[in-house]
Amino acid sequence: MDRYCVFGNPIAHSKSPEIHAAYAAQTGQELRYEKRLAPLDGFAAAVHAFIAEGGLGANVTVPFKLEAVKVANALTIRAQAAGAVNTLHFTEDGIIGDNTDGAGLVADIVGNAGVAITGKRVLLLGAGGAARGVVLPILEHRPAQLVIANRTVATAVALAEQFAALGGEGVVSGCGFADIEGGFDIVINATSASLGAEVPPVSPSVFAPGALALDMMYSKSPTVFLQFAAQHGARLRDGLGMLVEQAAEAFSVWRGVRPVTGEVLQQLRDQL
Ligand code: NDP
Repeated sequence: MDRYCVFGNPIAHSKSPEIHAAYAAQTGQELRYEKRLAPLDGFAAAVHAFIAEGGLGANVTVPFKLEAVKVANALTIRAQAAGAVNTLHFTEDGIIGDNTDGAGLVADIVGNAGVAITGKRVLLLGAGGAARGVVLPILEHRPAQLVIANRTVATAVALAEQFAALGGEGVVSGCGFADIEGGFDIVINATSASLGAEVPPVSPSVFAPGALALDMMYSKSPTVFLQFAAQHGARLRDGLGMLVEQAAEAFSVWRGVRPVTGEVLQQLRDQL
């Protein structure tokens, strides 16, 4: 049977095997997808061992997304833009490194939440790995503005500069949390502040009337960021949809067929 896996450390918490098993059943594809704990100093060896066993592809999660760039023989444009790889495809031409996180986020916003990005003002909080991966897919939808704000201001400014030409005149900018001006239609929390039950110190005025607030983190109850956004009138969305959508995108890279995500998203939500 065709074999895939997810590499991480730790990995026990991963929902990916469940998600891909559901996609395989839904699309009638015969495959096996397992979790693999890679040693912190042995990621590349673990990948090559899996290939030797007949593996056809793998997802990559914390802390190996940067190392996966080096393991790949070639990168897709979106993986190059992200500077990180979450999907490996083992082909006759070598190991292809891809990044489906950003496409997953955009599919969740546009497809599942029904919120267009085109012509909207978008605020991206954070400039780490997750934020970096979503900039290109967001810009492909032509927002009116994309402001990247981060605790370490220089990182936000550098990330904005990297994409300035692609976004068009004055569309992409970077700043600190205190320098954000005006309200936004879509506010994405790509910081890891929610892990420590902290809210990035932004003004409530960042939420324009009817704004969508999305926290990339997910948990049973709304994160502190989503609670803050709710108090200021925003519509809420957590990162579970992004997780399910990035997996659907990886599945379609490997199998050439894109699964429908709604039922799987609901199943995972019920199990939180
Ligand atoms: P990184 O460690 O690469 O980046 C962390 C970012 O958060 C940096 O911008 C950092 O700022 C900022 N930050 C950390 N602590 C705070 C704080 N207390 N206040 C304000 N800003 C803070 O992490 P990732 O980018 O990989 O992950 C970010 C989040 O996205 C995590 O919660 C992760 O779980 C989630 N995620 C969800 C996915 C999904 O499928 N739903 C996929 C990938 C990630 P600074 O530069 O100043 O350090």
